Amino acid sequence: MSTAIVTHKDCILHDTGTNHPESKERLIAVNKTLKNFKSNKIKWFESNKVDLKYIYEVHSKDHFSIIKKMSPNENLYNIDGDTILSKYSLEAALKATGSVCMAVDLVLEKKFQNAFCPIRPPGHHAEPERAMGFCFFNNVAIAAYYAKLKYKVKKCAVIDFDVHHGNGTQKIFWNDPNMFYASTHQEGIFPGTGFKDEVGINDNIINVPLPAGTNSLLFKKSYEDIIFPKLKKFAPDVIFISAGFDAHIDDPLADFRLTKSDFYWITKELNKLSIKYCKGKLISCLEGGYNIKALSESCLEHVKGLIL
Ligand SMILES: [Zn+2]
Repeated sequence: MSTAIVTHKDCILHDTGTNHPESKERLIAVNKTLKNFKSNKIKWFESNKVDLKYIYEVHSKDHFSIIKKMSPNENLYNIDGDTILSKYSLEAALKATGSVCMAVDLVLEKKFQNAFCPIRPPGHHAEPERAMGFCFFNNVAIAAYYAKLKYKVKKCAVIDFDVHHGNGTQKIFWNDPNMFYASTHQEGIFPGTGFKDEVGINDNIINVPLPAGTNSLLFKKSYEDIIFPKLKKFAPDVIFISAGFDAHIDDPLADFRLTKSDFYWITKELNKLSIKYCKGKLISCLEGGYNIKALSESCLEHVKGLIL
């Protein structure tokens, strides 16, 4: 079997209030589009909550208990202007992270070649001690350490094509030479990190900030000329993708000019690299993407790129 799709219905319950771009409608639309795509190469799974011990590999116990304490029984609690807790947000976040860990199980136990997790809340902005940018727990980083602890995987790479820099993943991986993080993102926008000279302890962090208006050509060139050669040199045992689709031309939060076919391209290229360098072990999780039509169409192209 080619591709597992892992999510949990509770991810829909995370309520960010009215007019928030990171809405439940995003995931409802993605799930509907992917379920309408009939293929005998994909199989859906519902995840469990992540075991807290894996969260504590990445976040402090204080970080978790503060989020738990701030979780309201009614109405909403604003951690900051962007990051909002509702009654079921913690439950959703634990199941979002649990989905990526279950994807690790399915891929590393060789039941599936690769996996995609359409989940929310997203994770790549969450730092060890800080929830921010719609994110509470760093789903992809926790899953990478889960793979390391449970399956003795030595080297994990995260490729992040969300239009925003994954400051959280970078911070978590910074001092670990066996973890690799590479990001293309729009320069000068939230969260304000991701400069070229941020390289980690052992050149294990690669940042490619790109200007507003970045199109398909410049996006592809950034991967072909900079990121892919460094990824090959790192030689990962597993590749993870922080799959944000807000670099799409129709996205309201940023100014890149990509289309859904660029997301097919990057997925297919990463899929080919994973086959060549790490036996096809590729695990992708949803990050951003705020034009609902563009997001759901791009997710479908992403899944098509994962199918072998
Ligand atoms: Zn983003």
